[in-house]
Amino acid sequence: MDQIECVVIGAGVVGLAVARALAARGREVIVLEAAEAIGTSTSSRNSEVIHAGLYYPRGSLKATLCVRGREMLYEYCASHNVTHARCGKLLVATAANQIPQLEAIRARGKENGVFDLTRISGSEALALEPALECVAAVYSPQTGIVDSHQLMLALQGDAERDGAVIALKSPVESIDALGGGFTVRTGGDAPIDIRATCVINSAGLYATKLAKRIRGLDARHVPPFYLARGNYFSVSGRVPFSRLIYPMPNDAGLGVHLTLDLGGQARFGPDVEWIDAVDYDVDPRRADSFYAQIRTYWPALPDGALQPAYAGIRPKLSGPGEPAADFMIQGAASHGVRGLVNLFGIESPGLTASLAIAQRVCEMASFD
Ligand SMILES: Cc1cc2nc3c(=O)[nH]c(=O)nc-3n(C[C@H](O)[C@H](O)[C@H](O)COP(=O)(O)OP(=O)(O)OC[C@H]3O[C@@H](n4cnc5c(N)ncnc54)[C@H](O)[C@@H]3O)c2cc1C
Repeated sequence: MDQIECVVIGAGVVGLAVARALAARGREVIVLEAAEAIGTSTSSRNSEVIHAGLYYPRGSLKATLCVRGREMLYEYCASHNVTHARCGKLLVATAANQIPQLEAIRARGKENGVFDLTRISGSEALALEPALECVAAVYSPQTGIVDSHQLMLALQGDAERDGAVIALKSPVESIDALGGGFTVRTGGDAPIDIRATCVINSAGLYATKLAKRIRGLDARHVPPFYLARGNYFSVSGRVPFSRLIYPMPNDAGLGVHLTLDLGGQARFGPDVEWIDAVDYDVDPRRADSFYAQIRTYWPALPDGALQPAYAGIRPKLSGPGEPAADFMIQGAASHGVRGLVNLFGIESPGLTASLAIAQRVCEMASFD
């Protein structure tokens, strides 16, 4: 049986960041990835926004890891030539009754250490973005966009340079944590058993399902889990905006916003659709609701402009109507299994926070 120090399960942006950080600290690492390539799941189905850290409750993991991770990510992108842009974002109130919410988000951002938010009037916002309609806005200069695939390739490159191995087509089927250390069993074409002293469960949408298959982990440590699809629609041609435009967030998401890719193409989304099973099909009939939501801040959106684009699925720990749950990063102090770190509910801002999450996982993991 193969023996290795650390097994990381999942080669999304978080698993790759964790593998990189462990390998950089001299740890022996293998990443086991079920798919045929890295980053084919949530890490390539998102808005690619580098969030400033406005929305999350003070002291939460989402707030602290987003703010720290954002700075780490900008530095990493600059030093590794990962294409990105600090393009800024306008968070807009489109009716007077949204102004208290706008102010509350600005105050929350400040509590989280985002000190450079500027409150501007509707006419000042219009001067920045002439196609916009709003009564007031908050400008966030630290918000940006990143090429998530380039980022993952850079993380993979660093991890491999420091000795990590990425094994594709290696779905983990079960983990035995009884009797000290772990036996990790993979399925696929060439099933193997691996002995490890440390296991990081970074399996995204499947992290809770996998945790239920860990012999030796008490089931009460596995949280309830829900899937919320976020659909995107694209617009052909250029849109008359150079910054990201966000409406007020709603109970399950940040609202149907405008994000730009690094080629300047626009996409709108994600909305929130609670689903029972992983399914990435975008229903074109959802366009009606997109037109209505987008026209609250861009009234001139032409009829027929929106095309179904793609969807991503949020691994949520809170269900419909419940307050948004925080990231859950569980080590031995919470579940009692030495060497095991479970990452649950790593939804937005997980891309922004990935390097800070990896740092935290390294601090929590144990290797003996
Ligand atoms: C609609 C949407 C929009 C978002 N927008 C943003 C944004 O703009 N900015 C931001 O910061 N964050 C955003 N996020 C969040 C961000 O995309 C995620 O937090 C991040 O991609 C999670 O990465 P991950 O590595 O944890 O998961 P994933 O990318 O899902 O990777 C998990 C990997 O584990 C593999 N796997 C699963 N089961 C097994 C198994 N049994 N064995 C081996 N491998 C397995 C999967 O194949 C997958 O490759 C968004 C998320 C969604 C859904």
